Amino acid sequence: MQPPSLRRRICPQRRTRPVRLIHPVLRLIHSAHPAHPSPRRRIRPRRLAALTAVTALTLTVSTSAGTEHPTAPATAGPIGLARSSALVPCLLHGGLNVQMTEGVPTPGGYSRSTGTVHALTLMVDFSDAPGQGSAMDRFHEFFPQTQKWFRTASYGRLDYRPETPITTWLRMPMPFRAYGIERGAPFEPGYRQLVQDIVAAADPDVDFSSYDLLNVLVTPNAGPSALDTVLSVTFAGNGEAPVADGVPIANASFVYSRQDDGSGSYARTGYRVLPHENGHTFGLPDLYTQEGGEAVGHWDIMSEDWGANNDLLGWHKWKLGWLDGSQVGCVATSGSVEYILTPLYKPGGGKLILVPINSRSVYAVELRTRGGNDEAVCRPGILIYLVDTSVDTGRGPVTVYDSHRGSGGCIHSPNVQAELSDAPFSTGETFKDPRHAITIQVLGTEPDGNYRVRITRG
Ligand SMILES: [Zn+2]
Repeated sequence: MQPPSLRRRICPQRRTRPVRLIHPVLRLIHSAHPAHPSPRRRIRPRRLAALTAVTALTLTVSTSAGTEHPTAPATAGPIGLARSSALVPCLLHGGLNVQMTEGVPTPGGYSRSTGTVHALTLMVDFSDAPGQGSAMDRFHEFFPQTQKWFRTASYGRLDYRPETPITTWLRMPMPFRAYGIERGAPFEPGYRQLVQDIVAAADPDVDFSSYDLLNVLVTPNAGPSALDTVLSVTFAGNGEAPVADGVPIANASFVYSRQDDGSGSYARTGYRVLPHENGHTFGLPDLYTQEGGEAVGHWDIMSEDWGANNDLLGWHKWKLGWLDGSQVGCVATSGSVEYILTPLYKPGGGKLILVPINSRSVYAVELRTRGGNDEAVCRPGILIYLVDTSVDTGRGPVTVYDSHRGSGGCIHSPNVQAELSDAPFSTGETFKDPRHAITIQVLGTEPDGNYRVRITRG
C-alpha cells in the first residue's frame, strides 16, 4: 500500500513524445472478404435472437440532449444497471489494490459526473510569477470550450458550470519556487500548502461547500513550458485534503503553462488539458503509460489531450453515466448476435457492445466517425479495445487493437501517437481472440451511416 497522498496523485508521468508501438498479446486475424458473403440466409433461429438484440439497441432514443438528464443519479456511475440484469456480467469491479480503476461503478469520493456540476475556478499567481494580462483572460483560455466539450461528450447529461466568484488573480503568500512543485510532485507537502493558501486567500469571497470540484488555473509563467515538462495534475477523491467551509477540497485540478501539440494550435485546442484533468475528478484513470500514448492513441482524452479534438471511449461514457443501459449490449453467453452501432459522438442509439472475458477484463466495441468531439478521426470504423479493471492508472488499463498494424496511421500531427489512428475495423474485417473463442465481425454500413456488427462466442 502506498500512502494516501500518493494513491490520489494523477498525471505524474505524462509524456508528449510519441514512441514505438508495442503490440498487444492477443492475436489479430484479418479477413480479406466479408466473412458471410451470403446475406440471403437470414431466417434461422439464432438470427431471430440476433434481430431482437438489434431492435433493442437501435430503438433506443436519448431523451437528454441539451439538458440535465431528469432521471440521472447525482453521482458517477452507469445508468440503467438496476433495470437491466443482462448487463451484470459486464459490470466489472476494480481491483482492490488499484489506485484508480476502470471498474464500474466508480467508487465514492469523486465528483459527480451527471447533472449540474459546479466547478469553482480560481486563477492564482505568485510574487515570482505575477499574472500577465487579466485573470479572466486566463479563464477564457478554457471556457466556454471546456463546458461545451463536456456537454457534447455527455449528450447533455453533464451540465458543467465554471464559476468565478473571484475574477482577479489570487496572489499566493509564498513565491512559486517555495512550494517545491515539480513534475510528479505529491500532495505532501507542497500541494497541501498551496491548497491551504488558496483557501485562506479565497475564503472571504467563496463558500467552498457549494462546489463539486476545484479548478486552479495557474498563471502560465509559473514553472516550465508544457513542451518541456507537463506539471498539470489532479488530486481526486482525496478525503484528507484541507477542509474549507466544512468540506475537504477532495477533487482539485491544477493547470499550468500553455499546452499544445507543438504545432502552434494552442488557441484552438489548448483548453483540452482541463477536460482531461477534470476527467480524473470524475474518477477516470490515465490511459497513457510511461512509454507514451501507444496503448490507446488519440481515441480518448485521458490518453492524449493535445492535438486535434477527441472524445472519450464509450466505456468511459458508460462509467460516467452518460449512456443508458439500453444503449449498451453485453454478450456473455455462447452464440452469435448482431448489433447496430451509431457513431459514438452522436446522441442516441446503440453505442457500446461489451464482451466480457473474465471478472476483470472485457472487450469493448464502438463506432468512431468524424464529428462532434471526434474531429480528428481519419479512418472511421469499429474500434475494439480491451479494458482491464485490475490495471492501474498510467499502467495501461485500456489497450486498443490496431486493424492496420505497422501502417504508420493516418493522422500526422506533432506529438500525436499516429500508429493507432487507423485502428478501427472496416466492413469485411474481423477481430478474433481464438483463446477465448470470441469473434467480432464488421458486417457493413447502413444507409444512415450506422454499422452492423456480429459478435460470436464459442
Ligand atoms: Zn491525467
